[in-house]
Amino acid sequence: MLSIAENIKVVRDRIEAAVKRSGRDPSEIKLVAVSKTVDIDRIKEAVIAGITILGENRVQEAQKKVASYELRVVGRKIEWHMVGHLQTNKAKTAIRLFDLIHSVDSLRLAEEIDRESRKTGKVQDVLVEVNLAGEETKHGVSKEGTISLLKEMSKLKNISVKGLMTMPPFSEDPEKVRPYFRRLREIRDNINELRVTGYELRDLSMGMSNDFEVAIEEGATMVRVGTAIFGERR
Ligand SMILES: *Cc1c(COP(=O)(O)O)cnc(C)c1O
Repeated sequence: MLSIAENIKVVRDRIEAAVKRSGRDPSEIKLVAVSKTVDIDRIKEAVIAGITILGENRVQEAQKKVASYELRVVGRKIEWHMVGHLQTNKAKTAIRLFDLIHSVDSLRLAEEIDRESRKTGKVQDVLVEVNLAGEETKHGVSKEGTISLLKEMSKLKNISVKGLMTMPPFSEDPEKVRPYFRRLREIRDNINELRVTGYELRDLSMGMSNDFEVAIEEGATMVRVGTAIFGERR
């Protein structure tokens, strides 16, 4: 078994190869190391190996990690991202913890984030999660609902939409999910061309351990990688 540092090297090499294949610039892609369920010691190894963005999917778990002394002594600036579904009643805590929330999928949640952010003078960066396959088990706004949600959100002053995120249906075969990644990019480009939302959407958060290379080929600016860095989750 490879160490976490070695895993990160392998992931970075694969990212670089995918970037080259697609003629993009390496600086366009951010690696979000998804550290949900991973303990502090192993997260620390990843940070020492150069990881600067950590992704969590539970507010309570993230709260402990953000406050952890062991990570702070490493002395690196860490960005914390919320990649999982956020309940409206956790918005208040979330805006204190996270630099970016990947998973806004309703106006109600957006309004709550806006309201809580206003109290602290923060402008919270977020992505809107799109449920492309219409899977009932997954969160995310429908493809059709995306523009109207963005229009409403652009009226909120303390929330800033940076882009879109998606979790396509799982498949062992990355080629099967390629069309979903492509569609998310098309939706983003379309929204930017229409200029109806007041936002210039730049980011596309898509691609996980199994398919991040394909996601990069289709325009991902953030890949969310857990297992390939930390190993199988218990
Ligand atoms: C767990 C998780 C990931 C990482 O998945 P891996 O397959 O372990 O890389 C990415 N995004 C979200 C939203 C997750 O919940």
